[in-house]
Amino acid sequence: MSARSSLRSPKWWALAAGVLLLAWLFCLPRNLFPDTPYSTVVESAEGELLGARIASDGQWRFPPADTVPQRFATALIQFEDRHFRWHPGVDPGALVRAAVDNVRAGHTVSGGSTITMQVIRLSRGKERTLWQKFIEAVLATRLELRYRKRSILALYAAHAPFGGNVVGLEAAAWRYFGHPAAELTWAEAATLAVLPNAPANIHPGRQREQLLEKRNRLLKRLLEHGDLSAETYEAALEEPLPDKPLPLPSLASHFVERCPAGERTRSSIRYSLQKAVEATVDRRSDDLALEGIADMAAVVIDNTSGAVVAYVGNSSPYRERPGRQVDIAAAPRSTGSILKPFLYEAALEEGVILPRTLLPDVPLNLNGFTPENFDRQYYGAVPAAEALARSLNIPAVFLLREYGVPKFHARLREAGLSTLTQSPDHYGLSLILGGAEGRLDEVTSAYSALANNPSFPAWYTFEALKEVNRPDQLDWRLIHSVRKAAWKTGTSYGFRDAWAVGMTPAYTIGVWAGNAQGQGVPGLTGARAAGPVMFDILNLLPRDDRWFEEPYEGGQSAQVCKDSGMLATPDCPAEEMLLPPAGLDSEPCPYHASGEFVLPPAMEWFYKPYHPEYTGAKRKTGSPVQFIYPQNGALLRMPRQLDGSIQGVVFRAAHHDSAETLWWHLDGSYIGETTLRHEMRLTPPAGKHTLTVVDGEGNSAFVSFEIAS
Ligand SMILES: [Zn+2]
Repeated sequence: MSARSSLRSPKWWALAAGVLLLAWLFCLPRNLFPDTPYSTVVESAEGELLGARIASDGQWRFPPADTVPQRFATALIQFEDRHFRWHPGVDPGALVRAAVDNVRAGHTVSGGSTITMQVIRLSRGKERTLWQKFIEAVLATRLELRYRKRSILALYAAHAPFGGNVVGLEAAAWRYFGHPAAELTWAEAATLAVLPNAPANIHPGRQREQLLEKRNRLLKRLLEHGDLSAETYEAALEEPLPDKPLPLPSLASHFVERCPAGERTRSSIRYSLQKAVEATVDRRSDDLALEGIADMAAVVIDNTSGAVVAYVGNSSPYRERPGRQVDIAAAPRSTGSILKPFLYEAALEEGVILPRTLLPDVPLNLNGFTPENFDRQYYGAVPAAEALARSLNIPAVFLLREYGVPKFHARLREAGLSTLTQSPDHYGLSLILGGAEGRLDEVTSAYSALANNPSFPAWYTFEALKEVNRPDQLDWRLIHSVRKAAWKTGTSYGFRDAWAVGMTPAYTIGVWAGNAQGQGVPGLTGARAAGPVMFDILNLLPRDDRWFEEPYEGGQSAQVCKDSGMLATPDCPAEEMLLPPAGLDSEPCPYHASGEFVLPPAMEWFYKPYHPEYTGAKRKTGSPVQFIYPQNGALLRMPRQLDGSIQGVVFRAAHHDSAETLWWHLDGSYIGETTLRHEMRLTPPAGKHTLTVVDGEGNSAFVSFEIAS
């Protein structure tokens, strides 16, 4: 069979047609815009635009939406492609009309391209030649097979140029009109419909007149087509063209920075709450800036979902200062006392203490670590709940030693504190006093999880923290809230970080104040700088008078000593209390052994002045004499004076009977005697020593310690 005859065979024609059909079927790439970078777009929980970041190629190009707002779609179809709804991607009539127009004008005045063909052109970015137009037409017919008309319109709207670095309808609506595309007026929709045809016309100058003329011509056509009423038409003609591009909304800017790049994110941020929290933080921060406290951050979490509903990474972005760009809500900062509630809750859960167990508050030296309370006082013995409410440091250190640093460290990591990067040994007991760093967002989240925990240990923690009558420098005149919150403050060493975290059953609010650059400021305390802001924000939240409910189940009834807060012995004045189950295995009260409430001498020495009802021992029980400072095994350093001389260390002892005389012996040698106040300043040489005190009846106490070389 010759080639000639084969061409005449219908079989070969069918094969050729089949090949062409296959080629057509596979001619369109799966993704039309594979390497197109998009802006990062972040919306509130309600769908409002919070903020956006420019795409990596410097264009404002929002990620494609599924649909196109009706007014724009109508205006665009009327302007670009009147038969769009019916044609298969190519409009032969329009092509013929365009050809005739162009011949008449002597140059190209109209392309005759359909919207579908323009989508193809936008995706390929090729020159405008007849051959390219032919390819665009073929691909357009294929695109029509793949997508519905609505999706083709959406593709066009997302990638059309709108002048300058504005690409896509959504970015254009925001940049030129300051609102979403869904809210475009007819005049705005018409402006944006004609703009991709001549995007340079948006620039000021004579071309703007052409743009206005084009817009008005389109409005006229829409009127004639019955798309808008005569009144709407008249009003639309009055609308001016947009001026220079507007800035995009910039709420929760640091939160926006944290969202995935190049994507549209529907966040959990609540739009109006975010706005109000930002305003509050800015106002408070501007006031504090006068005192040298430049920066502030705040985070609000919905306890039920654990979602962040407001996030301020730093205050007043427009106030000039170094560090204003820093997102401090996500920066590691010294935690001060802000982790204490977690220790209280953990110790309750494991039965290390009961809610009001007396904790020692006496001078402490643990291997050279000598914590002090904020007010540098000692209270002898303080119920754990009160020690937490007053944020006393020494009882917290005693409690952490009882509970165990490694266990607490692990618990904090489990609660989501990613900043605890060092080993438990590295932090030691200072872990509870700000030795570790924490991020406001993570700390607030850990509190929120606590607030959402319906257990007895958590409930006792809220109860302890709702005590607001606390001696920690809070100026209540600055606080206008009558709302109830369980809250805790923190102040880091050197007044560098002020924290306040408050919980209600529904929300947790975390506030940090200080300087992003790290410098400390006298008066920068959690209660003063962060507390009032926390209460301001509390007032912005939906009113809710619920309080944390005592858990229905999980509590064990037990008799608890009224004086020591520990499990009652038959000698104790007792009351019934519901305890976490492990509490039943906690230690019984050791202070009522003889029917009287008697604290060890060192605790008693500091406890008595604050407790006039305390009588102490009437009968002789145990040793009446005890060292207050140092404890056994202490490591002491000898402070030097400016002139180089050694100042010595003050050793202190206490006796139940304030009239007693004590005789002092260092390493077996008599060194002196004391009455009433049993204190002695000594300068023993470096090395290990033993100090002994003896009273008139032969009762004695001794302490072994080491002087550091
Ligand atoms: Zn007791």
